[in-house]
Amino acid sequence: MTMIDRRAALAMVAAGLASPLRAAPLRYTIDPQLVAPDLWVVRGVDGPIDGANGGAIANISILRTEVGAVLVDCGPSLRYGQQLKTVAEALTGKPVIRVYLTHLHPDHIYGAAAFDRSIVAATPALARSLETLGPSFSDGMYRLLGDWMRGTEFAAPGKVLGEDHETFGDRRLDLYPLAGHSEADLAIMDTTTGMLIAGDLVFHDRAPSTPHADIGRWLASLDRLGTIGHRTVIPGHGPVDPTSSAAIDQTRDWLSWLRETLDRAVAEGLDPVEAGNLPIPERFAVLKAARYELQRSVAHFFSRIEEQTLPRVDLKR
Ligand SMILES: [Zn+2]
Repeated sequence: MTMIDRRAALAMVAAGLASPLRAAPLRYTIDPQLVAPDLWVVRGVDGPIDGANGGAIANISILRTEVGAVLVDCGPSLRYGQQLKTVAEALTGKPVIRVYLTHLHPDHIYGAAAFDRSIVAATPALARSLETLGPSFSDGMYRLLGDWMRGTEFAAPGKVLGEDHETFGDRRLDLYPLAGHSEADLAIMDTTTGMLIAGDLVFHDRAPSTPHADIGRWLASLDRLGTIGHRTVIPGHGPVDPTSSAAIDQTRDWLSWLRETLDRAVAEGLDPVEAGNLPIPERFAVLKAARYELQRSVAHFFSRIEEQTLPRVDLKR
């Protein structure tokens, strides 16, 4: 090998080490599964966002109606949104006419960049959150995902949902603006099939993530979802629940355990590392990413609980 060849080879190795994401095949696998008549789910990877999955960890729903295709959530990036649009239109034989955003987390909504803003819809509360938080999330996603995110610009939704349902042809979708997983969560009931598209209010066999959670409000929202008369549930993460309640109950069980466990850890004077290593009950062994999410939840909640339960004596006057 000549000197120049060696230099060139070393430079290539160094470039490869410096940005391993460049070597990734930047194409998402979008494989919709039919879960009810004219309703498909594109399953996300049941793990954390990383350079191998390109951020495609959330479940996306595709509905075919007489007048067009309807999407619930749209993935993490422009590239994902473009691929999703192509797949959804080929699958349904119709143009995409509505894209609902369930909440502000980037794995669900940055694909909106691939669609005309006028068809991208959010509740008033979500639209407000996105105005302040939406643009800053894209920075974090670029850092995590590099080239997967190329060209992704956050665009505010063009349709703010004031109504409690929308009808497309003979398909009526009931809208439930709730909260708890985040400041503004949207759940959607497809009245034709009885499927509840729950966004991240419901996780199934995958531990719930809590970066913007209010556990009390989240539990109240789960109670509300238990009353709407759906048959089956499409969770934000994890497999479709063929029953009306198993995934909702599992999410409630984890959140109740998490709240109790963190409160007790603070009361007993554990530090965050000890709290993150606490044993996880055997019944949660089916939950993917359980340890990862427990440790993240400690990071999200620990200092807040300490402030509430152990107020500083010197500030109490
Ligand atoms: Zn989320």
